[in-house]
This record gives sequence, structure tokens and C-alpha cells, in this order.
Amino acid sequence: MTIHILSEEVAIKIAAGEVVERPLSVVKELIENSIDAAASEIIIKVNRAGRDLIEVADNGSGISVEDMKIAVQRHATSKIQNIEDLNYLSSLGFRGEALASIAAVSHFTMQSHAKSENEGTLLRMEGGKLIAKKIWGGPEGTIIRVENLFFNTPARLKFQKQELTEKRAIIGLIQKYAFEYAGIRFFLTMDDKTILQTSGNGNRRQVLSIIFNIDQAKQMILVDYKDGGFQVNGFTSPIGLTRSNRKEINFFVNGRWILDSSLSAALIQAYHTFLMVGRFPMAILDLKMPLEEVDVNVHPAKAEVRFRNPGFIFSLVQRAVRQALIQSNPPAIDLADSIIGANRAHSVDFAWTLAKDTKGQNDFLEQTPNSVENLNSLPSKDEFTQVPLLRVIGQIAATYLVAEGPDGLYLIDQHAAHERILFEKFNRLTISERARQQLLNPVTLQLNAADFILLQPLFDVLDKLGFDIEEFGFNTIRVRSIPSFFAQSDPIVLLKTCIENFEENESPLGSDLEQKIIARICKRSAVRGGQILSHQEQLQLIQDLEQCQSPRTCPHGRPTMIHLSVDLLERQFGRRGSQ
Ligand code: ADP
Ligand code: MG
Repeated sequence: MTIHILSEEVAIKIAAGEVVERPLSVVKELIENSIDAAASEIIIKVNRAGRDLIEVADNGSGISVEDMKIAVQRHATSKIQNIEDLNYLSSLGFRGEALASIAAVSHFTMQSHAKSENEGTLLRMEGGKLIAKKIWGGPEGTIIRVENLFFNTPARLKFQKQELTEKRAIIGLIQKYAFEYAGIRFFLTMDDKTILQTSGNGNRRQVLSIIFNIDQAKQMILVDYKDGGFQVNGFTSPIGLTRSNRKEINFFVNGRWILDSSLSAALIQAYHTFLMVGRFPMAILDLKMPLEEVDVNVHPAKAEVRFRNPGFIFSLVQRAVRQALIQSNPPAIDLADSIIGANRAHSVDFAWTLAKDTKGQNDFLEQTPNSVENLNSLPSKDEFTQVPLLRVIGQIAATYLVAEGPDGLYLIDQHAAHERILFEKFNRLTISERARQQLLNPVTLQLNAADFILLQPLFDVLDKLGFDIEEFGFNTIRVRSIPSFFAQSDPIVLLKTCIENFEENESPLGSDLEQKIIARICKRSAVRGGQILSHQEQLQLIQDLEQCQSPRTCPHGRPTMIHLSVDLLERQFGRRGSQ
């Protein structure tokens, strides 16, 4: 092949890939355009996670009849003139690429009526080619419909994420913009169902209760910090409200949602010594600074920025958050006290009492379950995996059982062991044996939109396990029964456990899903580390463990026991081998 210049059509499709990677990017670009157009209301419709339809309607300035055809061309923008304008950019858009890119890879309809004009225009494009342009009589503002996204880029279509993942990402994005632009009314439907709606009254804490749940929103700590022309505003979580990952840490810089791991690191550092290892805060912070302090022209998706003085911004975030935390008075965590002391107080009545939600206090003992065995593929009980008969000696640190076997000493992690026991016992029940415990008072649970979407497809599986769940109004479910096997647990805690961690790309399918949920509920229900067990309870636990098919690991694969053989003890004490 000789060298040649690519046709405009090919070039634009290639460039489109950088701007519109997935339905989420289309939603982001269209919302940003509506915000730039000074809309006070943005209505978003998404069908089939954006593959069939993304429609964004606003009541903003609109596009004049004359500008309609220009707006969809590449490098067409009303937002900057010269390269110097980038130094003082106050709009979200500036590259003039979004509409052209989106129109190149979809069936695209744009209807717009500029405030200053008598009538509007409708423009229709398919794969970047103009199909129709006519007069349109709609209200002032703009409606953009994107259908059959990526219909002409099959490679891109193939690499799209699962629908559930994309839906959650879109909801998350709109929640964040609704927070940042609390003065704009946002309304989102997915597959014709209302997902979220804000009032546009400017109250950020109100929007927060949509992003998190009402309880969490009340707890979030206000950040309000100023240093010269720099401001940090928003909310950050109290130390008792944490997550197992960084996904709920969000930053806006001059109104733009950005991803910046160093800002996240600054925030996390502000919590230094306040949080337990492996736990992360949640936050949504809005940084405002002089326009010339940020370079936004780093990447076509505009999700990254460069600061003129990154060290200062880092310290700014850290100071702002630290101050908010200290003013809200977080008690320092004394690990030993919080684990052992706290549980000692109410440990007596154990009898396999199911652990109540301890607000994450002991969670650092647990790792995020990422894979779980499938019972069908369990190894058969054999000499190697079996546990010999053990004589219980006692408990240490209220967490480990000490036992003697024919060949030495066994240290057993009571939590992991109990998890294993519950998991196998529950799995041994046939579906008909899985009795349901009707709740005297059915409980209702309101979820945030993203979690609701996650729980909905689990209804069938949960039903098989013994949960009677029904939709009960807006993002709300009602639970009428739970599995009798877990009857002592708080039904709300059990359900929340089911949702936890089914996040990005973690929505498993098929039979694996059922096992994952069972494992997760067992983990939640198992006796915790730090709980004192009576001798009788210790005996029972060990006996139950001996009955297990795979007693040596918990369902997530972590060991339940450590074996110190007599041989090893003798070596360690220098009774054998080299002196
Ligand atoms: P950019 O936002 O970088 O300027 P876009 O391709 O996203 O580029 O949009 C091109 C132009 O179309 C914008 O500069 C703006 O003038 C106009 N436009 C796009 N969406 C809207 C909207 N919702 N309301 C008013 N004008 C819009
Ligand atoms: Mg734009």
C-alpha cells in the first residue's frame, strides 16, 4: 500500500473512538453541552444501557438555524476562538468534537430552537451523513437523540461492557453531575422507568441523599475550605463510613468531573491514622480555582487535567479534608480496643448468634471476596483434606481456637471456620428443605438507584434461597421472608450483603451467582473474630468443621486452620535435626 491521506469519513471514525468510547461517554458529552448552554433542566432517557437510545433534552440556549449544520462538523465550537482562550476556559466543551464524533457512529437526530429565533430546526444524520434537515416547531432548547450507537463500528460494539455495568456507570455519572450542578433539575429514565430525579433547588445535601442513602447523606461531613483564590467544597465521609475501594471518591475541578489518582491519594492521606488498613473514605469534592491554574486540554475525553502547581493542590485537598475531619471530632481508633474490647462486652450469648452489622468495625479482618468455589466442583472428602479428630484446648485472642490432633497442634480461625460450616450446611439443604421464615413485619428498604438496578436481576436467585422480595415503589423493595437458616440475622443486613461488591464487571452470571451470594451471606452471618466462645461452643464448632467436605479453607479460599506438626515443634525446640 502506498501512503495516502485518510478520507475525512475514516479519519472521523477513528477520532470518534477517542471521544466516544462507550454509551457513558455519549451521555457525558451531551450533558456537558446542556450545562454549557445554561440549561436549568436536563432530561435524560436511556434505553438498553444506551445501545438502543440515548436522548438528552434541555431548556438551554439552543442552536440557531444557521449553526445547526456547522455544530455537527468536526472542530466546530462556539466556545473558543484562539488557543489562548484555553488558558481561561470556563465552559466544559472546547474541542468541538463531540457532536461530530457521536453522529459518525450512530443514528443521530438533533432538534434545537434558539432563544432568539422564531422556529427551530431538525437535523438527522446516519453514520455521519446528513439525511434530513427541516423546520421544527418545538420549544426553546435542544433535544439530541442517539440511536443504534456503534452500529457501523462492529469492533467497538463487541468490546462493550455488560449492560448492567454500563447502566450503573451512567447513573453514577448523572448523580455526580446532579450534585455538582445542584441548581439544575436532572431527570433520568432507563427503559422508561424513572431512575432519578432532582429538584434543581441548589441543595447539595439533598442530592447527596440520592447518591448515597439518606442515612449516609446525613452523616457525611461538610468540607468548606478556602485558601486565596482556591476553594474546596463538598462532602467527605466520617471515619465510621468507609468502603473497601476508592470508587466513591469523586472530584470536580472548576465544574468538570475528573479522574485524578493523586487527588484521591491526598484525600486518603488526610484520613491517615483514622482509617483501618484496606478501608477507604467516600467523598465528593468540588475544587474551584483561577482558570489559568488548570490545563484541561490533556485528553479528548477531557477527564484528566494538569495543574500548574500540583503540589499545592495536593496539600490544599489534604488540608481541607483534614480540617473538616478534625472539626467533626473523629475518635482515634485503638485497634485492640475496638476489636476485642467492644465484642467482649456482648459476647456471652453466642450460640451461633448471627453477627449484626457492626458498621465495618471488624471488616479489616475480612478480605473482599473475589472468587468463590462452586460446590459442584468440590473435591471429594479424602485423607488429604480431612481434619482428624481434635481435642479442643481453648481460645486465644478471642479469635483463634487451639486444638490438639494426633499429629500436633491446630490453630483454627473461628470466623473462617464458621463461614465454611455455614456454607456447606446451607448448600446441603435441598431447595425444598430451604424453609422460609416469614417476617412478622415485612421490611422495606429504599436503595440508591444504582444499587436497585443491581439487586433487581438477583430477585430470582434470592427467591430460590428463601427471600421473598418484591418491588415496592420507587427504588424500594419489600422483603416478606428470609431463609430460616439465617433467621437470626437482620434481613436488611443480609440484603445489603448481597449487593456489596457486585460492582464494575463483577456481576457474575448463572450458578456461580447463587454460590457467591450464599458465600457472602455465610460470611456475614459467621461468628466474628473477637467474639469469646464458651467451651461448649468451641467443641461444637470443631465438631462441625470435622464434618465438612473441605474443612481447611473458607468458601473464598482462605485457610481456616494452621497445622503445627509435632515434627515441626521438635525441630523448633532443637530436639531434633541440627543443633
Ligand atoms: P464543544 O462542546 O466542544 O464546543 P460539541 O461538538 O460538543 O463541541 O458541540 C458543538 C457546538 O454545538 C457547541 O460549541 C455548541 O455551540 C453547540 N451545542 C451542542 N450542544 C448544545 C446544546 N445542548 N445546546 C446549545 N448548543 C449546543
Ligand atoms: Mg461538547
